[in-house]
Amino acid sequence: MKNYLVDENGYYGEFGGAYIPEILHKCVSDLQETYLHVLESPEFKQEFNQLLRDYVGRPSPLYLTKRLSEKHGCKIYLKREDLNHTGSHKINNTIGQILLARHMGKKRIIAETGAGQHGVASATVCALMNMECIVYMGKTDVERQQTNVEKMKMLGATVIPVTSGNMTLKDATSEAIRDWCCHPSDTYYIIGSTVGPHPYPDMVSRLQSVISEEIKKQLLEQEGKENPDYLVACVGGGSNAAGTIYHYINDEEVKIVLAEAGGKGVETGETAATIRLGKTGIIHGSRTYVIQNEDGQIEEPYSISAGLDYPGIGPIHANLSKEGRATVIPVNDDEAIRAAFELTQLEGIIPALESAHAIAALDKITFKPEDVVVLTLSGRGDKDIDTYLNQNIVNA
Ligand SMILES: *Cc1c(COP(=O)(O)O)cnc(C)c1O
Repeated sequence: MKNYLVDENGYYGEFGGAYIPEILHKCVSDLQETYLHVLESPEFKQEFNQLLRDYVGRPSPLYLTKRLSEKHGCKIYLKREDLNHTGSHKINNTIGQILLARHMGKKRIIAETGAGQHGVASATVCALMNMECIVYMGKTDVERQQTNVEKMKMLGATVIPVTSGNMTLKDATSEAIRDWCCHPSDTYYIIGSTVGPHPYPDMVSRLQSVISEEIKKQLLEQEGKENPDYLVACVGGGSNAAGTIYHYINDEEVKIVLAEAGGKGVETGETAATIRLGKTGIIHGSRTYVIQNEDGQIEEPYSISAGLDYPGIGPIHANLSKEGRATVIPVNDDEAIRAAFELTQLEGIIPALESAHAIAALDKITFKPEDVVVLTLSGRGDKDIDTYLNQNIVNA
């Protein structure tokens, strides 16, 4: 049987590893030596699980849709990460990492954010734990996600707009890494997705794996079996997808479908379809697929969704795709928008624009009547209402 989880050297097949500047070597190796020991300790588990229950509101429901299921001619369950405190799955990871930061004696927290959900989740746990929080956010995203910026400020975080590149998630991440290099001893960097140097992709996957742990229990209760036929999730860096598949990953009878952001179309040059278009390279400390030009320069990604326009992809997903374990489907902006309106009209649930990419991917799969599908609804659509209202689609 193949193992699709991380190996002892921090690799998923040929992907992953820790390609970092010398100045971060100690920070990263401290983290590598500490994270498993802490995450597996009874004290950590007790506090983490209690906060997930009483603060986040877990377990998140597994909801069997009626009209969406009818449309696709099979059973479609939504894993409702949109109902978590702060509105997405990001909070699962930030709670885990803030507990680790506290354990390691770090006082100053930095984070990067795209759509602002990870920034809000980081600012939230810093307020909870009384720690300083600095959030790097591309200036373009600061402008398109104003409400999340206001929330971070109210929570006491300092938001630093980043003006390099096309001023989105990639640039915010680069700037956060630069900050970390300047303050290696007192600063903990909370990465928001399954990206960055080892151990981040594995650590974030483990912290998000509560999603698949719950799916197993909930499906057993509702369907009398733990395994669905399909798991479907959107991928930006890949954390909600990693959490969704974690406990199923080596069980090949469960099919994995990943929806990545096609932007205006994979052939248009305005896209963030990293797995489809990327070539192997290094980005933010990890060897993975990267959208790059012939000289190896990283291309600016584009997606209508600020949470998906990243030119890299978590190494776990690069490997799943290369090995044929996951099917990767690019979904364009217009298809995601249409799917958001469709879910709203069929089920009364306004999804995050990122999650709408996963909903749209359902249209590209032919299901059998007996198929059981679990789709992770990674977040709610409050932050995207302006984008939705600027579209002229009234009827999906
Ligand atoms: C951040 C975000 C994503 C994309 O990040 P992943 O790490 O790929 O999960 C998807 N959905 C929502 C709601 C987000 O906030």
